[in-house]
Amino acid sequence: MMLPVSVRCQDSAATADARRVLSSLLSAGMKERGAYALLRELTREAPHRLSGSQGAARAVRLVQRMMDSLGFANVHREDIAVPHWERGAAERCTIVRSGARGIRLSVCALGGSVGTQTGGITAEVLEVRSFEELARAGDTARGKIIFFNRPMDASLVNTFEAYGGAVDQRFGGAAEAAKAGGVAALVRSMTLADDDVPHTGVMGYRDGVRKIPTAALGARSADRLSAMLHRSAMVTVRLVLRCQTLPDAPSANVVGEIAGSVHPENVIVISGHLDCWDKGEGAHDDGAGCVQALEALRLLQAAGVRPHQSIRVVLYMNEENGSRGGKGYAQDPRREKENHVALMESDRGGFAPRGFTVDGDSSLLSRVMRWQSLFDAVGAGTITQGGGGADISPMAQKGIPCFGLLPENQRYFDYHHSDNDTLDKVNPRELELGAIVEALLAYLLSESKI
Ligand SMILES: [Zn+2]
Repeated sequence: MMLPVSVRCQDSAATADARRVLSSLLSAGMKERGAYALLRELTREAPHRLSGSQGAARAVRLVQRMMDSLGFANVHREDIAVPHWERGAAERCTIVRSGARGIRLSVCALGGSVGTQTGGITAEVLEVRSFEELARAGDTARGKIIFFNRPMDASLVNTFEAYGGAVDQRFGGAAEAAKAGGVAALVRSMTLADDDVPHTGVMGYRDGVRKIPTAALGARSADRLSAMLHRSAMVTVRLVLRCQTLPDAPSANVVGEIAGSVHPENVIVISGHLDCWDKGEGAHDDGAGCVQALEALRLLQAAGVRPHQSIRVVLYMNEENGSRGGKGYAQDPRREKENHVALMESDRGGFAPRGFTVDGDSSLLSRVMRWQSLFDAVGAGTITQGGGGADISPMAQKGIPCFGLLPENQRYFDYHHSDNDTLDKVNPRELELGAIVEALLAYLLSESKI
């Protein structure tokens, strides 16, 4: 269909402006690589940012200072109460052998787990690959440590799909094991890496079901335990966990923005989550998303963009084990005076961006697709329907369009929630490209009616 001449002219003028903005973002961003400098500071000063921890409190103070020194407007905290779970010292998992030294397995407690009694739990192990297999085991599960050992499906190209197909064991394993009469649950780490680094992550108990301790085994430890179970009918393991849940702690989301020049009451949010697990440094998950949001706003300012609508950075607290930040932001009375136009989040690692997801009414995707050639120019032209991210989903439920940055995904679960999630795993150019994609998308959203 031919468009009227006036529409074509407006479109091409807007596209020419957008190309100029993109060119400024690229020339400043790829030379200065500001996102990486911010990530270095964040991972050095606040590497462990689990909700309720000292590290999380340091991170809140640090990013507020960063926003102030970057010259953002309206920098402030929005207070929330967050869950406070602590790993505690010395967690251990040992295969017990009579007359010989035990074999240590690589282990870490899952977030939210109860601890064991002081001497730990010693019991026989029952290996299963699914909740259905556990149910079929009937009474043989009683008194055992249930070992969930279904790996992420390596044949899937999209590692997030592979994660989605296995993570039920981590989240729900303890409750299923307790229902079956088990005394503890071990879960194969959610990773595709061939190493022995255990990966933590949130788990959940169920009302009315006994709370039993639960922990993740490194992939090689899981293989070793499984091999022993195949050789011998009876394998006994001792599990010691010192973790505990403390009362909720005060914390905050951190907010800063460029005020809109025409409609300051209209808001476009760029976000990441400031909390991370107590393993590694939270470099990819989600330090990357936080610094990309900060850098996107910095680059827009540096390019001299005066957006029609406000572009706001929100760094949410507590995505990992409660989503209190995302919920708190959506429920805050300040939202009543504002009109959110769109929200985007980067929470899939700081790898080279390939595109983004779009979550909105049925025609939104086709309206956004008209920008595809701009994003193709930075290798990020894959625009697909999909959820934006956990932090922004409470706003998505109000019908506001949400977007999620889609980076290359082959390595994310090698690092995710583990001691391997450190700054050296982040490539400065790839990280910066993600910030540029977010800046461009925020600019386009602010200048148009989507
Ligand atoms: Zn995350």
